[in-house]
Amino acid sequence: MARNRYRSGRMAATVTRFAPSPTGLLHLGHAHAALAAWRAGDRCLLRIEDIDATRCRPEYTAAIFEDLTWLGLAWDAPPRRQSAHMAEYRQALDRLAGRGLLYPCFCTRAEIAQETAAASQAPHIPPMGPDGPLYPGTCRRLAPAARAARLARGDAYALRLDMTAALAAAPTELSFHEAGEGRLRCDPAQFGDVVLARKDVPASYHLCVTHDDALQGVTLVTRGTDLKPATHLHRLLQALLGWPEPAYAHHPLLTDAAGRRLAKRDGAPSLRSLREAGRSPAEIRALAGFPDPG
Ligand code: GLU
Repeated sequence: MARNRYRSGRMAATVTRFAPSPTGLLHLGHAHAALAAWRAGDRCLLRIEDIDATRCRPEYTAAIFEDLTWLGLAWDAPPRRQSAHMAEYRQALDRLAGRGLLYPCFCTRAEIAQETAAASQAPHIPPMGPDGPLYPGTCRRLAPAARAARLARGDAYALRLDMTAALAAAPTELSFHEAGEGRLRCDPAQFGDVVLARKDVPASYHLCVTHDDALQGVTLVTRGTDLKPATHLHRLLQALLGWPEPAYAHHPLLTDAAGRRLAKRDGAPSLRSLREAGRSPAEIRALAGFPDPG
């Protein structure tokens, strides 16, 4: 397939990206996401989101290159591997910290659950955000001396965004442009004091993805609709860090016959196994919802 058969034909260059995490082999859901990005963009970039060394494996990164090439998709610049850019994410965190918008959080998951339970009435229903239960703010309230002592002792910590302070520092009305829907108003507060640097990885998905979309000049973010809520937070980070605002196009997720989202753990066949079973790239593109034009 000639790549430009998927181009949109618009005059202004639209820069999209496909940003898989190499935690397993790609399946049809990934093919759908990749083809959606390639179809929407005049230029399409490839980004390997591999900051989590415990879950990502180099052989899966190699398989991504192999599968996309086999599908007939060529990317427009050398692929960016996030794990090679940790110092850049650190700089972005330092900018937020310098404005007093971050604080270290020493809590374990168990402590957070305990604290949340203690603070709420039975029956216990923790307030939920898009990434899980909302953080109750324990470490935000730590006295400066206690915080300094724990830092001096070398206790492991995550960095959380002080959401109240961040909202006060950002424009009051944030919104994003969603393809087919127009302008949607953002509600970043739904994330609470979200983690921007993890204890085990000194960065986070939200930070890296907004940093890289800005750095790589992405003008249209195409990704699965499961990540649409994250856009509310990404717009806040863009506003705080002075990064440009891309447009967004969240696509539905491919589902199996039972209506479940395709996932490796539920046995979704990998592109590699489909290839080995004799399927052609054209068949895979059609199965992924993008039959070749004409
Ligand atoms: N790395 C994410 C994933 O594999 C996608 C991130 C994005 O497109 O914003 O689900």
